[in-house]
Amino acid sequence: MRTRASLILTLVFLPALVLAQTPAKTPEKMTAKPSPEQVHRSAIVIDTHADTPQRFVDEHFDLADPLGGGNLNLDSIHKGNLGAEFFSIWVEPTLYKDHYARRTLELIDSVKQQVARHPDQIEFVTTPAGIEQAHRDHKLAALMGIEGGHSIEDSIALLRQYYALGVRYMTITWSNSTAWADSSGDITDTSIPHTKEGLTEFGKDVVYEMNRLGMMVDISHVADRTFYRTLVITRAPVIASHSSARALCDAPRNMTDDMLRAVANSGGPNSKGGVVQVNFYSGFISQAYRDAQKAQKPEVDKAIQDLKDKAKAEGREVKYEDIDKIQREFADRIPRPPLSMLIDHIDHIAKVAGVDHVGIGSDFDGVSGQLPEGMDSAADLPKITEALMARGYSAEDCRKILGGNLLRVFREVEAVARELQAENRPRITEKQPFDKWQK
Ligand SMILES: [Zn+2]
Repeated sequence: MRTRASLILTLVFLPALVLAQTPAKTPEKMTAKPSPEQVHRSAIVIDTHADTPQRFVDEHFDLADPLGGGNLNLDSIHKGNLGAEFFSIWVEPTLYKDHYARRTLELIDSVKQQVARHPDQIEFVTTPAGIEQAHRDHKLAALMGIEGGHSIEDSIALLRQYYALGVRYMTITWSNSTAWADSSGDITDTSIPHTKEGLTEFGKDVVYEMNRLGMMVDISHVADRTFYRTLVITRAPVIASHSSARALCDAPRNMTDDMLRAVANSGGPNSKGGVVQVNFYSGFISQAYRDAQKAQKPEVDKAIQDLKDKAKAEGREVKYEDIDKIQREFADRIPRPPLSMLIDHIDHIAKVAGVDHVGIGSDFDGVSGQLPEGMDSAADLPKITEALMARGYSAEDCRKILGGNLLRVFREVEAVARELQAENRPRITEKQPFDKWQK
């Protein structure tokens, strides 16, 4: 597939080449503007969030398979020129209660199994240099991010071991708060214990240790006060691996303009700042879609409860894919937002935070197919470049948005880790939150 892509590239470049060799008529024709296709093909496209590992483990899905209702496979990766994917290691907190670490390890293993099965097309990568090398090798760079601090089971040791296994970012929380950090998903639920100021002392140690290891700190999903507390203490710039703009769609998972600017200014005094990777989920990009979803919610909740009751009566377990099926059925009744709405979010963040602080975090395979029109799989990624260029974004800006910005942040996170390791000043309080064994 890659060979075919480079052939297309040559064919696309050919007219420009011929043009350059013919005697110049006007200066403009000498410097033919690259086409969106050329720009997209020349970029290292990095997506920071896909939930495909659930499919690897639960559905025995292989990346060489047809999409089968999903958004990511090898064919779409090649068609969309996706250069690097951060596979999400997401542990559903109620289904896997009491064995988060086991599920975390199984998901990590599933990514490595995919790499082992397709060594000619995928490289397992843990560094920015590795992403560039995989790009030169015409392979997909496969990376991993843990989505939700509950995976470390309140243990810095587990965090370090996940780093050792190759995990290169961790979302401080998923939709569930932990003993040490608050989530936007349950911050208004008074039945759940929350921290006083967004992070406990242990939570601060987690962030410091991530900085020291060189694991990117991801603030998608966290409650606003956890966001600000994290930004105060982090020594490295942060990422939002999959969040959009709250000014355009009022979801607690999205970021206010003030937060967008804060991410752009995150890191130490010499930092070039972090990056917000725009989430493609229809419910985060379109207010109309979100409102329609809200109106539907009681009906959806009832259908899911009925399913659970039925399963219980029959003595079997409810699977995530069964719930996903119901969500898809209801979602299909709401019109999909146009692709332009997704571009609006990229554009908004570029204007508010700066073009150096925006990227893409699709949430592919994690949103029950609820994506804007025309964005069905990774094969549709070139449409983003096309739309950005139509809005006047330069080739250089597009390449930054498509992956350059994330690479810059990743490199800086590595540099900060080297500095902190040289300082040799571990700041670990040893005291664990809600320590069951010390009571
Ligand atoms: Zn998420």
